[in-house]
Amino acid sequence: LAKQGGQNHLQFYVASIDQEIRNRKQLERDLSQALTNHQFHLVYQPQINLESKRVIGAEALLRWEHPTRGLVPPDDFIPVAESNGSIVEIGQWVLEQACWQAARWASVGTPLRIAVNLSAVQLRQETIVDDILETLERHNIPAGRLELEVTETSFMTNLAEAVEKLHQLHRAGISIAVDDFGTGYSSLTYLKQMPVQHLKIDKQFIRDLLVNEEDTRIANTIIDLGRSLNLSVVAEGVETAEQEYYLSQRGCQLAQGYYFSKPLPPREFEAFITHFHEKIVENNA
Ligand code: C2E
Ligand code: MG
Ligand code: MG
Ligand code: MG
Repeated sequence: LAKQGGQNHLQFYVASIDQEIRNRKQLERDLSQALTNHQFHLVYQPQINLESKRVIGAEALLRWEHPTRGLVPPDDFIPVAESNGSIVEIGQWVLEQACWQAARWASVGTPLRIAVNLSAVQLRQETIVDDILETLERHNIPAGRLELEVTETSFMTNLAEAVEKLHQLHRAGISIAVDDFGTGYSSLTYLKQMPVQHLKIDKQFIRDLLVNEEDTRIANTIIDLGRSLNLSVVAEGVETAEQEYYLSQRGCQLAQGYYFSKPLPPREFEAFITHFHEKIVENNA
C-alpha cells in the first residue's frame, strides 16, 4: 500500500512538474507578444527628500496587463524575460517610455528625475551605452535627469566590462544607484570601483525597522556607509510614519514607499505631487 501510495505521489509530482514547464512555456509565448500587443505600461513611484519633504523624482516600474491572467507582477516575468533575453527589447521600451514621460513632465514645468531599473542582462549588451545616450538625446532629456538602478548581480559577471560601461554612463552625466543593496553579493570592492551615487536600502530591511533589532542595525550600517562614501541613501518600502521619522532622524536623505504613495499611473502621479506639495506649504504656513 505504501509503495502504491508512493508511486501515485511520484506520478502526481511528475504531472505537476510537467504542468509547471507548460505554464512557463506559455508565459514565455505570451511575453513575446506583450510588446506588440501593447500590454505593458509604466507606473511611477515618487521619491521623497526627507529633509525638504519634496518629491525629487520617480522610479518607473513596469506593469504587464495579461489578457486573461490580469496584472502579472514583475517579479514573476522579469526573470523569464532575463533568461530568454527578451528583457533587452522590453528594457529599451521601458527607457523609451520613461524618457517620453520625463519630457512631458518637463514641458509642463515639472522637470523630475526618473529612475529606471536596468537589468544585468541589458548592461551586458555591447551597445547599451550608446542606446541609452541616443534615447536621452532623441527625447531631449538632459543626462542628469536619468538615474539607472542596477543590482549587485550586474557587477558579478565580467566586472571590468560593467565598470567601464557604468563609467561611460556616469561621465555622460547619468547617475547610478545600487538597488536592493545588502541582499546580493555586495562587496565593498565593487562599491569602490563603481561610479555609484546612490544606495537603495532593500525594503526587506525597512519592513521590520524598529521592530527587529537586526534590521534596524543593517539599515543604520547602510546609512553610515553611504555617509562615509559620500553616497546618498534611499530607503525603499517605507510604509509607516515611524519608519519615516526614524530614517530622517538617522540621516537617510531619500525615501519611497506606500507611506507616501504606491507606484501610480502618470495622471495620478501628477495629482499626487500637486497635493503633496500643497500639504507642505499648508503645514509651514
Ligand atoms: P525594485 O526595483 O526594488 O522596486 C521596488 C519594489 O517595491 C516595487 O515592486 C515597488 O512597487 C515595491 N514597493 C514600493 N514601495 C513599497 C512599500 O512601501 N511596500 C512594499 N511592500 N513594496 C513596495 P514591483 O513594482 O512589483 O517591482 C518588483 C521588481 O521588479 C523591482 O524591484 C525590479 O527589480 C523589477 N522591475 C520592475 N520594473 C522593472 C523594469 O522596468 N526593468 C527591470 N529590469 N526590472 C524591473
Ligand atoms: Mg528599483
Ligand atoms: Mg529596490
Ligand atoms: Mg527590490
